[in-house]
Amino acid sequence: MAKQDPSYHYQQRQVELDAHRQLRIGDGKISGYLSVMLGALSLLAVLAYLFPSYLTTTELRKTYDAESLQHILKYGMYFSLFFGAMTHLLKKCRRLGCLGISLTLLAFALGGYTVPVGPVEPKALSLGVDWLILAFLGSAVVFVTLEKLYPKYKNQVILRKEWETDFLYFCFNHLAISAILIYANYHVSHFSWAVSASFQETIQSLPVFVQFVLILVAADFVLYWEHRLFHEVKALWPVHAVHHSVENLDWLAGSRGHFLQVFSERAMVMVPLYLLGPSEAALNAYVAFAALQAVLIHCNTRLHFGVLKYIFVTPQFHHWHHSSEKPAIDTNYSAHLVVFDWLFGTMHMPGKHWPANYGTTKPLPKSIMGQILYPITAWKKNK
Ligand SMILES: [Zn+2]
Ligand SMILES: [Zn+2]
Repeated sequence: MAKQDPSYHYQQRQVELDAHRQLRIGDGKISGYLSVMLGALSLLAVLAYLFPSYLTTTELRKTYDAESLQHILKYGMYFSLFFGAMTHLLKKCRRLGCLGISLTLLAFALGGYTVPVGPVEPKALSLGVDWLILAFLGSAVVFVTLEKLYPKYKNQVILRKEWETDFLYFCFNHLAISAILIYANYHVSHFSWAVSASFQETIQSLPVFVQFVLILVAADFVLYWEHRLFHEVKALWPVHAVHHSVENLDWLAGSRGHFLQVFSERAMVMVPLYLLGPSEAALNAYVAFAALQAVLIHCNTRLHFGVLKYIFVTPQFHHWHHSSEKPAIDTNYSAHLVVFDWLFGTMHMPGKHWPANYGTTKPLPKSIMGQILYPITAWKKNK
């Protein structure tokens, strides 16, 4: 699969250690940030328990037991207080510690982990606070551990430049889950004419694994072309450029994306799922796989995938998609499998090489507002 440009001089990426942003044991930052993170998540969780109709996701509620999660909330709250107290013992980053403790005390004042759990009246539109908390905790634990155990760039720190921007994108993408689903369902309703009950019955009669593979291929075909259009249609590029403006890839970087792209991508990928009509088990397996792979491929990890790299999109493959180097521009569009890039001649996987530079060739605004408005400013300029 070596698709190498023989005329191009591949270089090694140099990452300087940013000592100011580095988290070191004993300097209070780790305790401070953990206290704030757990305090903020606890407060959000308590609010979600108090107002589940407005702050939880109907689809996600079916998959977890709200009462059992209160045990985790309890530990989260006590650990927030513990880490907040640590900053005072260390006499460093006490402001962060005070903020974490204050958030947790507010969570306690609102009922803490003892808010009664009852039946929930579902609302069509809600904020996915539960989705945000669970996804953030799960992703942070799994992927930060992976990046620390098998880093590609050892000097890249967890709180690298612009992590705050990407964290805000992460929050938006998860909070807006029900709005995204409403829009995606509305979008697929236009394809009801193409639904065949007998075809869907045949699909559902297949083993779950076969259904999963079919969904993966069909979804990737749509994602490949949707992604390619975002790159190759001049008017669409400024929307997608926001995703490419990130210059240090890690588990949080993939969250950066203009809301127009987030909404349209989900709506488009829903079409093959809707037409195939697979069983719930196959659909859930795909959703979980796609969510994990989307984070993994942006990770700062050198983890080897062996022969799997000939089948699936891996971090190296997608890192090349984010490279600003000439041979990699407009390549590696696939989201799940490498097959469509290989078939349509857009693959760039130069052996063991990794990119030396990431980002867009033309710089984008650094502020989140500037990035949201970027398509409008770019369209006006190109008029
Ligand atoms: Zn792209
Ligand atoms: Zn990406």
